[in-house]
Amino acid sequence: MGLTSFDEYLSLQQAKYEKEHPVALESFISKRKSYMEAMVQEFEESLRVENFADYCKNHNDELSNYIYNEVYVNRQDFTPEIKQKLIEISDKYNVKIFVDASLDKDALECLKLLEKEYAAWGKASDGAAKYPPVMDFTQAKRKYNDNKSAYGMGLTAGFSECYTNGSISMNGMSVDMINQVFRHEMTHTNDLKLVGSFEDGFVVKENDKIIAEKCKYYDDFVKLGIAKDHIPYAYNNPMEFIAVAAESSKLNECSPEFKQVLIDFGMPEWMFKLPNHN
Ligand SMILES: [Zn+2]
Repeated sequence: MGLTSFDEYLSLQQAKYEKEHPVALESFISKRKSYMEAMVQEFEESLRVENFADYCKNHNDELSNYIYNEVYVNRQDFTPEIKQKLIEISDKYNVKIFVDASLDKDALECLKLLEKEYAAWGKASDGAAKYPPVMDFTQAKRKYNDNKSAYGMGLTAGFSECYTNGSISMNGMSVDMINQVFRHEMTHTNDLKLVGSFEDGFVVKENDKIIAEKCKYYDDFVKLGIAKDHIPYAYNNPMEFIAVAAESSKLNECSPEFKQVLIDFGMPEWMFKLPNHN
């Protein structure tokens, strides 16, 4: 759950309180303890939601559907519009979305964008696309090894998991984030396999590290509009290779040769029918 810090939570409550009671700051301070208790409650609930989301990743059954539709979506902090969207998406695509607790103002826009993307993937694939059983916007950031960082690791913006039927987790809800990350993770969800890194011959290897700059098809990624400092990530393994390409807003404009490479690495051919996006 996207827990805010207690200080952040307090200042929000204080601003709200001051607006409602312009001169009564002292009584706000006396309420500090009750806000602390409210935070504890929120924290306890977030643990329950996290457990339930985990259950849903591997169980699409009567129980998970019942709890999702009758309990989860009825949370008091959801507007009727958000509740309705969550139910529609769950009914139509069998995707249970867990919304960021901070309910960023973008939340409804994000749900609409996701619905549009699910429809596009369904249409392009003629119904063959695999949807994530859970899209979780409440997960803490996951670390990954990042050679470019002095710390040797970075924090992911999102991930798709092989062991949870391709469930997708992302940090926070924003339209920009979904535009940047969703197709990458959906590509993994539609390509659930465990493989090693590239075979020798395709890329140049030095000390077991793949040297992306020397690699073939670098220019093809550039042409697709993938940021230059992100391209090396594609050379981790074939799964990342196709997932990074899928981030392009104009995938269908790639050369026939590059297209064939992507298909050989596991990209479903119908993905080239996806409409361009932002
Ligand atoms: Zn990836």
